[in-house]
Amino acid sequence: MHSLPPPSVESLDDILPQEPLLMMGAGPVPIPHKVSYANSIVINHLGETMNKVIEQVKAMGRYVFQSASAQVLGVAGPGSAAMEMAIANLTAPGERVLSVCNGYFSRRMAEMATRVGGQVTVLEVPNFEYAGVERVEAALKAGDYKVLTIVQGETSNTVFNRDLQAIAQLAHERGCVVIVDAVCTLSTMPLEMEAWNVDAVITGGQKGLSSIPGVSLLALSEKAWRKIENRKHPMAHWCLDALLADNFWNKKSYHYTAPVSGVLAIHEALRLVCDETLPRRFERHLVCSKALQRGIEAMGLKLLVPEAARLNSVIGISIPQGVSADAVREHMSRVHRVEISGSFGLEIVRIGQMGEQSRAHNLFRTLHALGSSVQHAGAALDLPAGIAELEKGLAQESVTVA
Ligand SMILES: *Cc1c(COP(=O)(O)O)cnc(C)c1O
Repeated sequence: MHSLPPPSVESLDDILPQEPLLMMGAGPVPIPHKVSYANSIVINHLGETMNKVIEQVKAMGRYVFQSASAQVLGVAGPGSAAMEMAIANLTAPGERVLSVCNGYFSRRMAEMATRVGGQVTVLEVPNFEYAGVERVEAALKAGDYKVLTIVQGETSNTVFNRDLQAIAQLAHERGCVVIVDAVCTLSTMPLEMEAWNVDAVITGGQKGLSSIPGVSLLALSEKAWRKIENRKHPMAHWCLDALLADNFWNKKSYHYTAPVSGVLAIHEALRLVCDETLPRRFERHLVCSKALQRGIEAMGLKLLVPEAARLNSVIGISIPQGVSADAVREHMSRVHRVEISGSFGLEIVRIGQMGEQSRAHNLFRTLHALGSSVQHAGAALDLPAGIAELEKGLAQESVTVA
């Protein structure tokens, strides 16, 4: 007896647009064909094939994180799951944690550290400023901190913590375990885990790496690993327990059924990073983001964050007074088939420059769609000047931006 009838639903063909929207927001980002193909395959989660894939993911991960000695673990879950894994495994109840907070995502780390029993002090960085070394040093001196959390690029308000290396060094010297959120920045700009004395680097799939959402990576230093092995407190999270994840990621045995398709996808994403090499990838991101920023300004729009604290991986743009940011985004999506992001509460839009987003053809289409949609919403702009400036910014012979 089935008393509940099946619901009447539409097929995906009816729901999805004929041509996918160009994903130029703060993530997820477009994925290369090799990544989407890998994501369509299911293999056994244990056995020789998977073992080889895992070994290569770890080896490529160590290159992308720039740490020969890091433990690279994957997690079935969003970037926030990798974040929770780092924080839950590295924060003992009662330990003092200094959380450098620039915005929404760095505050999430403070929230997670509080939930696992850390005694958290929040260092609030004023909006649109980066965390300065002196300010963090003074905060570190004022307490016996065991953990420091900080974001490299704060996606929410598009601020870049340019002093990350010096801050990590200071925290390291004072005995902290240093946890860095690099979800939007990894592989778009330098982050040298080992040389900078960073103990945990968090990343997701769907941003800098240009893979799918839902499978994330966490890299742990030797110091972080020792702390985890020696911990005395019970670990409340079973799925996120690094010592159990070690069974799968290092000992070829079972923890939970790995998200095999997503692991294959991230394998391909990492392989494309290795093929391109980090220096060339960083340069591509830098040239593309700067050219886009110049194009936006030349068109007559204002960038949200002053240059000194401005993130290149996600660009925040102020929308002229009297124009609705939501109306601009709606027009871009409906008419130009380009999707960008709004923000939490601010009258701004955000355009991503992560992975496949940083390609010349995507930039021209996005800048045109933005300019034309702002004009449609009622503000006067010089669209040709913007496009010309973008063209000039991209015309650097040494860099491949196609
Ligand atoms: C997107 C993002 C996250 C969260 O990633 P999810 O996959 O949405 O959990 C965390 N930190 C930063 C800096 C991000 O950009």
